[in-house]
Amino acid sequence: MSKKRIVIVGGGFGGVKCARTLRSHLRVGDAELVLFNKENHLVFSPLLADAVGSSLNLLDVVVPLRQLLPDVMCRTEEVTNINLAGSRLEYEGYDGQPRQLGYDHIVIACGNISNLNVVPGMADHAHPLKTVGDAAVLRTHILSQMEKAEVCDDATRRRWYLSFIVVGGGYSGVETAGEINDLVRSSRRFYSNIHDDDITVTLIHSREQLLPEISPPLREFARQKMEKAGVTMILSARVQLATGEGVGLKGDFVAGGTIVCTIGSTTAPVIERLDSPKEKGRLLTEPDMRLRGQANAWTIGDCACIINAHDGQPSPPTGQFAERQGRQCAENIIRVFQGETTRPFSFKVLGQLCSIGGQSAVAEMFGFKLSGFLAWFTWRGVYLFKLPDWSRRIQVGFDWAWLLLFPRDLSCIKTDVTDRVTHAHFEPGDYIVKQGEPPANFYVIEQGEVEVVRSSPEHPAGEVIATLGTGSFFGEQALLGNQPRSASVRARSTVEAVVMGRNVFTSISKSLAPLHTALLTTIARRTPHVWQERPRVRAALREFRLADFIEAAPRPFLQPTDSLLEVTRRFVSADGERLDGLVTLTDLLRAQATNVLPDAPVSDFMVKDPAVITTADSCLVAASAFREYGHKLLPVVHDRAGRRIAGYMRAQKLIARIMQVVGPPSTQTVAPLATGVGSSAQIKA
Ligand SMILES: Cc1cc2nc3c(=O)[nH]c(=O)nc-3n(C[C@H](O)[C@H](O)[C@H](O)COP(=O)(O)OP(=O)(O)OC[C@H]3O[C@@H](n4cnc5c(N)ncnc54)[C@H](O)[C@@H]3O)c2cc1C
Repeated sequence: MSKKRIVIVGGGFGGVKCARTLRSHLRVGDAELVLFNKENHLVFSPLLADAVGSSLNLLDVVVPLRQLLPDVMCRTEEVTNINLAGSRLEYEGYDGQPRQLGYDHIVIACGNISNLNVVPGMADHAHPLKTVGDAAVLRTHILSQMEKAEVCDDATRRRWYLSFIVVGGGYSGVETAGEINDLVRSSRRFYSNIHDDDITVTLIHSREQLLPEISPPLREFARQKMEKAGVTMILSARVQLATGEGVGLKGDFVAGGTIVCTIGSTTAPVIERLDSPKEKGRLLTEPDMRLRGQANAWTIGDCACIINAHDGQPSPPTGQFAERQGRQCAENIIRVFQGETTRPFSFKVLGQLCSIGGQSAVAEMFGFKLSGFLAWFTWRGVYLFKLPDWSRRIQVGFDWAWLLLFPRDLSCIKTDVTDRVTHAHFEPGDYIVKQGEPPANFYVIEQGEVEVVRSSPEHPAGEVIATLGTGSFFGEQALLGNQPRSASVRARSTVEAVVMGRNVFTSISKSLAPLHTALLTTIARRTPHVWQERPRVRAALREFRLADFIEAAPRPFLQPTDSLLEVTRRFVSADGERLDGLVTLTDLLRAQATNVLPDAPVSDFMVKDPAVITTADSCLVAASAFREYGHKLLPVVHDRAGRRIAGYMRAQKLIARIMQVVGPPSTQTVAPLATGVGSSAQIKA
């Protein structure tokens, strides 16, 4: 057999089991196994609620993939596209550049992602629980609410700080509500101002009973036991909206300072982009787990809709199913290599287990029903042995035993780092910030040029939407709005930048009025305006050829040694090649206001290395540059390094062309592409 390359996308329950099974059957010389995962670890999600409730340390619920999967090439990179016809995938490399890899077989095991948009306001005000980062943030939030409650002198507000709302009565909702209830109530004795009746933990579920997968007597047991422990149940109620103060139900409002949302999931972006039949966002498969109509592409776990041959039903999105599919999929791939017939996926559920807090659980295993302490002990035993490696089993077992003797840890670790103002250097192609990242810094470009790249469903690999040059800044919107970065910023040339940490930036921007005003103006300018929002305008700008707008720069050019008096002559140059500076009307007025002598050389007051666009840029980038810099004319150069003058471009001409193609915008609030003053003169040395 020639050496095959099998690529697995996703290092969750399904992907890891598949990789382990393949490696145990296929020798390294026969098959190269490559596993892509966004993080370098597997998240053991059934224990996330324990991490939230401080029953376990955060690191206990993750297992490093490369320690788990020897002889598998683990790549901590995100797959962005899968080309089924060409048997190739595209991924974002370590340096942010797109790269490709071919495969003989691919196993898609990307799971799904939280979707807080199921309820209005949830995305802004609720905590999801899917990743270990979510668990860390939620735990820190709960502990900070307790710290605030301890020192709050308003009784109503104190009760609000201590009101926790969990939305969703499935496994993760029930386990999370149980853990929060245990954490807050058992830690009360360390807070002198927190009383038991100040605390409310509310579980809201849309059905009549919790835990639909478990038999009715056990559901009832869970409800009663949790209520006795202090959890308020609101059943048969749908959350209609979430606000900063709590959640709205039909005709009712539940106040609370913490909302946890365990409902709502959506397809991972790479699956959304994949052109393959889907059912409610999950990939449809053949009985043997191959993607519909594909010979060498397989899919397993939460992202797949696989019919279980055991009962003819679609497999539920659980870890138990994902693992079993991972194993059976690996066995089917080996069957294909050996020329044997593949088998349909078939699995009889072993049991259901759910911890409900207060050292109690409900369990159904091999036909037996258990509840209370014995079920809780079984729950812990099963999950301990389900952990994929011995070091984690011992660690988790130790942490659980520790909790039998000592109280839960109440340290509230914040991820703030000491703020600094630093200088940073970037080489062409380096990513300075990445789309989706949490905001951390504000950047001012001291020298060089960057491009703003945004990924969208139409342009998953990213599209350059703007460029910024020396003197420009970025990062302000995400910091002020406390939102993830809406676009990536990549160095076009060698870039030197001043980097300000969040706190330094916030305090300077608040206290320094001119900076504050400049920031507000920039935010208003960069907010998508009517031209950018109109899809037809964007389409037209993408289609226009920049070359059609370039006009020859009037010669002769100025020389840097020319005097202020001579600037009235436009576009003077020594050799007619390199653009070294620009003199705008503003520069001339400033020169006059600051008493620059008429015989002072132009190089004393020109803008050195001004913002330019290149002949290789798109009209979309040109439109953004006009708006960003507020110029009516922009110099166009052939190449960034040599800055050889190609000509200039006028905003008016571009606007006129857009109007011709798409007509004027219907609204009155048209923001002009260029708002700057005067025309520009280019300097050449
Ligand atoms: C809080 C909580 C509690 C749960 N409790 C239980 C329980 O008690 N019992 C149970 O059976 N199930 C439970 N589940 C469900 C279970 O965790 C999932 O069904 C299971 O993790 C699905 O496995 P998977 O391999 O399909 O996906 P996942 O485990 O979600 O793994 C998918 C992986 O793919 C990676 N990925 C995604 N897209 C890309 C990409 N483009 N490039 C590279 N990597 C990518 C992700 O980063 C992730 O690591 C729980 C889930 C949660 C959130």
